[in-house]
Amino acid sequence: TNNLYRNDYCSKLPSHTPSVSPQSEFSILPLSLKSLSLDGHLCFENIHHAANDFGNRYHFLPAAVLYPKSVRDISSTVKHVFEMGRTSGLTVAARGHGHSLEGQAQAHQGVVINMESLQERKMFFHTGEFPYVDVSGGELWINILHEGLKHGLAPKSWTDYLHLTVGGTLSNAGISGQAFRHGPQINNVYELEVVTGTGDIVTCTNKHNADLFYSVLGGLGQFGIITRARIFIEPAPRRIKWIRLLYSDFSTFCQDQEHLISSEYYFEYVEGFVIINRTGLLNNWRSTFSPQDPLQASQFHSEGKTLYCLEIAKYFNTEEISTINLRIEVLLKELKYIRNTLFISDVSYVEFLDRVHVSEIKLREIGMWEVPHPWLNLLVPKSSVNEFAKEVFGNILSDTRNGPVLIYPVNKSRWDNKTSMVTPQEDLFYLVAFLSSAVPHSTGSDGLEHILTQNGRILSFCDSSRLGVKQYLPHYNTQEEWKSHFGSKWEIFRKRKYTYDPLAILSPGQKIFQKEI
Ligand code: FAD
Repeated sequence: TNNLYRNDYCSKLPSHTPSVSPQSEFSILPLSLKSLSLDGHLCFENIHHAANDFGNRYHFLPAAVLYPKSVRDISSTVKHVFEMGRTSGLTVAARGHGHSLEGQAQAHQGVVINMESLQERKMFFHTGEFPYVDVSGGELWINILHEGLKHGLAPKSWTDYLHLTVGGTLSNAGISGQAFRHGPQINNVYELEVVTGTGDIVTCTNKHNADLFYSVLGGLGQFGIITRARIFIEPAPRRIKWIRLLYSDFSTFCQDQEHLISSEYYFEYVEGFVIINRTGLLNNWRSTFSPQDPLQASQFHSEGKTLYCLEIAKYFNTEEISTINLRIEVLLKELKYIRNTLFISDVSYVEFLDRVHVSEIKLREIGMWEVPHPWLNLLVPKSSVNEFAKEVFGNILSDTRNGPVLIYPVNKSRWDNKTSMVTPQEDLFYLVAFLSSAVPHSTGSDGLEHILTQNGRILSFCDSSRLGVKQYLPHYNTQEEWKSHFGSKWEIFRKRKYTYDPLAILSPGQKIFQKEI
């Protein structure tokens, strides 16, 4: 895949010239862009980073990268492209932290907007009965966490990894172990400021310009660029009891997960993951978790087995520790995990929320962070989850060495159906995430081709068995596939596109609509 990048684009381009061949219709565009008066600046050189993302598989070189200093910069650029009309093939992609998987934040020969440079307004925390924070669309969630803790406040709904931008996750959904309780991040927004595909700057809420508000949430960047968001926050806890329990039976594991997300709401976070044929698994946990029964745990072997790990967290403040411990003990007794496999850790709120970053540091050290990531994220309805697990965990996957496989349930009642996000038809569904990393150049079971074939088998099985599964962070190549993804929501999605981005300028990397020229 890196060859595609080098051979297909870079080799065509002398390293300091941005445009393609002189005959190209695009070649005059950088010049016309240069005439814009901006607070920030446009770059036409050294922009190869904008032709990559976390997926590390798709590489589309833009014509320019905008580093905006103001919302006006974004609006003028989009307006300029809009006013060029259909005669130009120029498109615009907002780039958050570039952690997409399949080129979704890229724009081939278009303009990529580096949203992290938009720091026009300071983060503002509003206390009171309904506390909220106002942030730039290019702000990283990790920065909101650190800043919020200075006020004892934090957002309610997170993703597992916080080095992502607000605009990037709100364009998808933003799902983590808190979603069963608070809904995804797109359900935790009061207000947005958006630059539409015509360059207009519009403020919207669920009452005012509500159609735009709901379009943009989960809208895959198709309707506007989020320049500011007002997000729900709550008092932040200081400490977290982070608990892991193992199961060998899938149905029992699901029953316990579903019990925990039902009305009791004692735990603030419920996730889980699948372990297939892993060696030395529990040893790896020892740096963070203490087994409740060290002797029994040391005799537990995971190799050759398929296990399901329930992961839960209880937020607390230090003075509550004894009541919390007692209550957790009682609640855990109700669960049907393998008795000697209880692991508990007591960590700060930041350590818990920023946990994936610890893995990032380790993976970077061994050169395994900037590798291809053929991820597959699915939303599986409760009624199909057993059939799904039987085939996928029992047959298609022979081990989980290529990366974590997460699985946890969420309640649809916490999701607002008016957003652009598509979920399965049932009240309860599971997020199942195959977070694989491919070893570069490997042709074995840890290589890209093998993992892509496996993903293909999983998708074909879901299709042929009509499991009612929807992709999360979806990726399709044809509009027919997109239509079927959106199902009954397609018509409204299409109408909204005509209303807010009539020339199909925005986020071309999603490959839903193509700019007609
Ligand atoms: P980008 O990749 O830069 O952009 C994503 C899309 O949104 C693009 O189409 C882009 O054009 C558009 N976009 C970006 N900014 C804006 C904006 N301001 N306005 C409008 N459109 C915009 N997701 C979860 O839900 N839960 C998780 O737990 C989770 N964990 C993850 C862990 C890792 C290590 C990684 C790499 C990703 C994870 N994700 C998770 C997926 C993540 O939410 C998406 O990939 C998200 O798009 C990344 O945000 P970003 O800021 O990098 O966006």
